[in-house]
Amino acid sequence: MTGRTHDLAAFTALGAVVIFGPIRTVTLATAIMAVLANLVGGITPDIDQPTAPLWRNLPVGKYFGKIFDNIAGGHRFLTHSVLGLVIFGFLIHFLLIFLDPIMRSVDIGLVWWAFMIGMLSHLVMDTLTKEGVPWLLPIPIKFGFPPVKKFRVKTGKLEEKLIIFPLLIVVNVYMYLENYNKLLVILHRHIV
Ligand SMILES: [Zn+2]
Repeated sequence: MTGRTHDLAAFTALGAVVIFGPIRTVTLATAIMAVLANLVGGITPDIDQPTAPLWRNLPVGKYFGKIFDNIAGGHRFLTHSVLGLVIFGFLIHFLLIFLDPIMRSVDIGLVWWAFMIGMLSHLVMDTLTKEGVPWLLPIPIKFGFPPVKKFRVKTGKLEEKLIIFPLLIVVNVYMYLENYNKLLVILHRHIV
């Protein structure tokens, strides 16, 4: 899947967890940081591609991308597995603890969850593509859904642009319109 589909999928997954999970109020700062972490999490697994958006947008990113590509074992390897999720879970946890003193009104626990939901959504979305995802590394088997490759999506092709992306937008519009009041409650008392 392309970066923008991954970001929209991550945002959709976060919205679904917030809307259908138990109500808990959050500060606006937490909500903003959570969405940002979620979007970053949504494209993080693809840092194993030298052409990933993160590397492309950095001046010397091309070289870092190639180096990271070799460390992570090439595209759709370590960063596209449960093991990768656990490793990044730890890394982000420590990064957030480090940043905590300068983010007083941010609930870093929720920001961590938002990142992880984004990253998990990436793996789920890539599972729908022809290449599949090596969920159980170091067992080198790539899993895909549906199991028959023919019915899966090819990254960046018409079915992704015409079906998956618009479908995600429809899901978001429906989800937020239907549950708008619940969202207001979640933000209400902590709007400052
Ligand atoms: Zn990917």
